[in-house]
Amino acid sequence: MQKSMLKSLRSIVHEVNAVDDLQSVLDITVSQVLSAIGTEVCSIYLREPSLNRLVFMATEGLNKDFVGKVSMACDEGLVGQVAMREEPINLDDAVSHPHFFHMPGIGEESFSAFLGVPIIHQREMLGVLIIQQAERRRFDENDEAFLITVSAQLAGIIAHAQATGSIVSIDPNDDARRSAKFRGVPGAPGVSIGHAVVVSPLADLYSVPSRRCKNSVEELEFFHECLEAVREDIRALDRNLSSRLAPEERALFDVYLGMLDDNALAAEVDQLINDGEWAQGALSVVMRKHIRTFESMEDAYLQERSTDVKDLGRRVLSYLQSANTAPIEYPERTILIGEELTASMLGEVPPGKLVGLVSVRGSGNSHVAILARSMGISTVMGALDLPFTQLEGDQIIVDGYNGHVYINPSDEHYDHFQAIYEDELQVNKNLEALKELPCVTTDGHQLSVFVNTGLQADIVRSLNLGAEGVGLYRTEVPFLLRERFPSEEEQRQIYREQLEAFAPMPVTMRTLDVGGDKALPYFPIEEDNPFLGWRGIRVTLDHPEIFLVQVRAMMKANAGLNNLRILLPMISGIPELEEALELIYRAHDELVEELGFDLVLPKIGVMIEVPSAVYQAKELARRVEFLSVGSNDLTQYLLAVDRNNPRVADLFQSLHPSVLQALKSIADDAKLEGRDVSICGELAGEPGGAILLMAMGYDVLSMNATILPKIKSVIRSISMEHAKDLLEQVMQMERAEHINEFMVHALKGLDNKHIVPVEMA
Ligand code: PEP
Ligand code: MG
Repeated sequence: MQKSMLKSLRSIVHEVNAVDDLQSVLDITVSQVLSAIGTEVCSIYLREPSLNRLVFMATEGLNKDFVGKVSMACDEGLVGQVAMREEPINLDDAVSHPHFFHMPGIGEESFSAFLGVPIIHQREMLGVLIIQQAERRRFDENDEAFLITVSAQLAGIIAHAQATGSIVSIDPNDDARRSAKFRGVPGAPGVSIGHAVVVSPLADLYSVPSRRCKNSVEELEFFHECLEAVREDIRALDRNLSSRLAPEERALFDVYLGMLDDNALAAEVDQLINDGEWAQGALSVVMRKHIRTFESMEDAYLQERSTDVKDLGRRVLSYLQSANTAPIEYPERTILIGEELTASMLGEVPPGKLVGLVSVRGSGNSHVAILARSMGISTVMGALDLPFTQLEGDQIIVDGYNGHVYINPSDEHYDHFQAIYEDELQVNKNLEALKELPCVTTDGHQLSVFVNTGLQADIVRSLNLGAEGVGLYRTEVPFLLRERFPSEEEQRQIYREQLEAFAPMPVTMRTLDVGGDKALPYFPIEEDNPFLGWRGIRVTLDHPEIFLVQVRAMMKANAGLNNLRILLPMISGIPELEEALELIYRAHDELVEELGFDLVLPKIGVMIEVPSAVYQAKELARRVEFLSVGSNDLTQYLLAVDRNNPRVADLFQSLHPSVLQALKSIADDAKLEGRDVSICGELAGEPGGAILLMAMGYDVLSMNATILPKIKSVIRSISMEHAKDLLEQVMQMERAEHINEFMVHALKGLDNKHIVPVEMA
């Protein structure tokens, strides 16, 4: 029994995943649930948020003429009761129930048995799924459990179909594209208005943007040339393997060639190209449809064939992509949109044209968001429901403060955000005046404000904005932008440029910190739990050759300048630190011997970003010159919240009481050992966070260049005494929400027009 239910459930999910539009999702669900449970009626009501009513959306067994035409208030009838109470209702005689609500004509008056379950997605009630039967019967526990399971699985699919449906049903030939708003999470603050360019990794059938082709006849010709090239590849493969494979095994190649025949899949692609779609988009639509069909087949052998279809699709797509040499045309104000944006995608946009980013995956603490903040580019991350392949060329507003994306905005929205954008420009201009002023409180406490760097462009921006040093140079960024590990000499030149640009100000270079969400294209690390896996110092201690080359390059670059500090990431215990120190000392000794002159041994520091390091902060501090807190990872690990996962982004609370306790204890321990303590996580660039960190005794706050003037202006408008008082109160609080509210209120009370947090719809 259980097994067959699981099978039914899988087949429902497979089938609904195979369709794109909401109505088909609902229709398939009702008919499949009906047959799986063996009942007479199955219907779905969805909540229409603007009306706050439950609309009759799909049925099997009741009068279909009423679908989409009737609705009830959210507290009306038994369906309303399920919605309101957010729990199942199971009755054997629904008609006599006081809440039974008779909707004339719909045909339910003759059904006694009723079982309804709510459809809930991310705490939001989307609607109700019900089954009914004429005979008085109580649906049993199995039925109830099955319906709840179906509803829980479908909720996400329905929410996605609802969201994407707000835009994908538009006719591409129609100029009047529909407006829509999508939610993600804030990535980098700011508002930008521009036009979408959809970027996708190569040979990925699932992220090809939909585009109009310029000339259908030429596009068809191009498609068939590529198709023939793939057919030729397969024939060659067949010839090469002829001596090694049995004839029945080689039969697969015939199947492949059959699928690629001009009259098979290709005919469907031709049809879409004739309708005006470009070849890549048409191929993607057709192949995805066939992959889904195979995937939803019951037979395991046939299901497995979906892999072959995928493989063929990718091969043809690769040809189409590599032969398509037309460069991407980036509009003047480009908003880059993709499923998963990477640093190199940002690098391809010509300078000055990139104004906004939207990524379907990732969250505000993903590394691409951190880069975006340092570049001052408004960004929304984790826009999970965005139908991103459909947006090429559309006008987009990125609201990086609230994590919202507006597609083809209304005039009202456009004017609203344009006004905010202009205000921002003005505020930034005013802030520039602070460049030469010290970062000092009203009662004379001086704080150092450093920058986090990585990109070449960060150097000039940082210097222009008044940085007093580099608190974190993420060396993995230049590594990410290459096709192989940079050589020692290449690294030396890159590091020299940083050190020279800032000298005599200190530059803190972190040793290579890859893993987690930072994969080098030429050194892939595939793990189930990347943030708990082979990351940071763990990788470089396992590869001393990479570590040694890097620290040698740093020390050579430092010759004559002596402003280098070395920082070690992801240290979780004393042995790792001692091993790393050993390697640095060894590299130093060897260099002195090789070069024949004395090189200064740079100051060395440890990042405190793993909870175990918090508890050994004293022991670690004793062995090095300074500590630097990586609050991004520390928060992630303390709160057990994946920094890259938009679903739990709300739980990533940078001012959580536990995080504050840890930060305070690190500062106290560093001081006890007589060491400097700095912070280079994003918290240093949050106005409320900066005040509290200063009060805790942090000597250096290191942040992205864009935010630096704002933080300086905050510090210049408060006294240390007041900051300490705020800290004392905050340390008594038990909830992050209260701390946030308290700090927002405190900031509003300061005499500073630059820091009022942006609050919008
Ligand atoms: C941190 O974890 O806070 C940090 C500064 O390092 P990264 O964000 O590069 O992991
Ligand atoms: Mg980190």
